[in-house]
Amino acid sequence: MKIYNTTTRQKEEFESIKENEVGIYSCGPTVYSSPHIGNMYAYICWDVLARIKKYLGYNVNWVMNVTDVGHLVNDSDDGEDKMEKGSKQEGLSVWEIAKKYENEFEENLKELNIQHPNVLCKATDNIKEQIDLIKKIEANGFTYKITDGIYFDTSKFADYGKFANLNLDKIREGARVEVNEEKKNPTDFALWKFSPTSEKRQMEWESPWGVGFPGWHIECTAMSIKYLGETFDIHTGGEDHINIHHTNEIAQGYGAFGHNTANYWMHNAFITFKGEKISKSSGGLFTIFDLKNKGFDPLAYRYMALGSHYRKGIEFSLESLKTAEIALNKLRSYKIDSLGKVDKTYKKEFIEKISDDLAMPEAMAIVWKMMKSDLSTEDKWATLLDFDQVLGLNLKSIKTNTIKLGLSYEVVPKEIVDLVEQRKKVREEKNWAESDRLREVLKNKGYLVEDSQNSCKIHKIR
Ligand SMILES: [Zn+2]
Repeated sequence: MKIYNTTTRQKEEFESIKENEVGIYSCGPTVYSSPHIGNMYAYICWDVLARIKKYLGYNVNWVMNVTDVGHLVNDSDDGEDKMEKGSKQEGLSVWEIAKKYENEFEENLKELNIQHPNVLCKATDNIKEQIDLIKKIEANGFTYKITDGIYFDTSKFADYGKFANLNLDKIREGARVEVNEEKKNPTDFALWKFSPTSEKRQMEWESPWGVGFPGWHIECTAMSIKYLGETFDIHTGGEDHINIHHTNEIAQGYGAFGHNTANYWMHNAFITFKGEKISKSSGGLFTIFDLKNKGFDPLAYRYMALGSHYRKGIEFSLESLKTAEIALNKLRSYKIDSLGKVDKTYKKEFIEKISDDLAMPEAMAIVWKMMKSDLSTEDKWATLLDFDQVLGLNLKSIKTNTIKLGLSYEVVPKEIVDLVEQRKKVREEKNWAESDRLREVLKNKGYLVEDSQNSCKIHKIR
């Protein structure tokens, strides 16, 4: 399998550290507000990556963090903690805010059929690990102390700007407005921040350097190596992480162990709305629950994401979501009770695409080519279910809003499914009058019911 490695800016042949095993670390959510579709896009992409690895025969260990402390606004080392800010806005404690949005995040995972990571770890549950790692970096001579915390001296790491192709001279020139004058270099970043003397923070811990809280970047290095080892296979994140967050993670790995902790770094592009990255100002800040309230199936959003390449992102609109939902329902309508054989030729083509740096749009084209081919209906459905291990559209368990019309399953309004179910029940109770009444109701809504000895057939009235 080939994947694009940000470190070399090239597609590389993937080689795992241990045979048939792959460790993946994904930068997870900061749990201070509701995740929106832009946030969730990234997790769909990395879920697909984890699924592909499984499909190709690897044992996958997928680790994701939950940032519940230390992420300051503007991703810098100054300003308010996002969690404390959320706490003030909602009148809840930071711990309650963290719990509330972590739960919401997990609900989003379910709605989008994203597999639960093997480990979903919280920064606040790993304070000791972060302190130990800072101690290591300190012992290796990469840190210094100033008034508000312990900082990483980026000038000690010669390759600091290499990963993101940073022009450090330019950064130095532009840093005259630097807020923190005590920092030795503008790119230096906090490993441990001291609690301010002026106000009491809700989240703070004892440390060898004084009471405070970890900087945002240290948690990812600490937790990735805790669960995956000092060198692991793949680290993922959004492309906005390249310049600061991941550059700093690499520096921390170098400071602690003398090497990059991840062999492959993968980055997703963004969902845009009206040509802009989704934000409050662009107006596309929908949550999955907003889409649900508008009558969409969350999996239609997943289907839409599959139509994009993770390094290109996708332009979101409600119209294109509608188109995605129609296509998804079309796939569901192929459902048949008897399974045939997985077609080897199409499977080979499918694997070629997914193994080419997650070429999902091309893989979806293979899906449709197969569905429109002259394979038998049974073989099509079997092959589709096989592919769905990667797609994650949960086709195996479609029940809701699907009934058998004539010979194939079709998606109908929920109301119709309910009426059919209700009618089945009253017939079991031998309530023929009610059964007849329901048949009339269905007929008026455009569905003809034909009863026979022990089954009933439903047809759409054209
Ligand atoms: Zn991270």
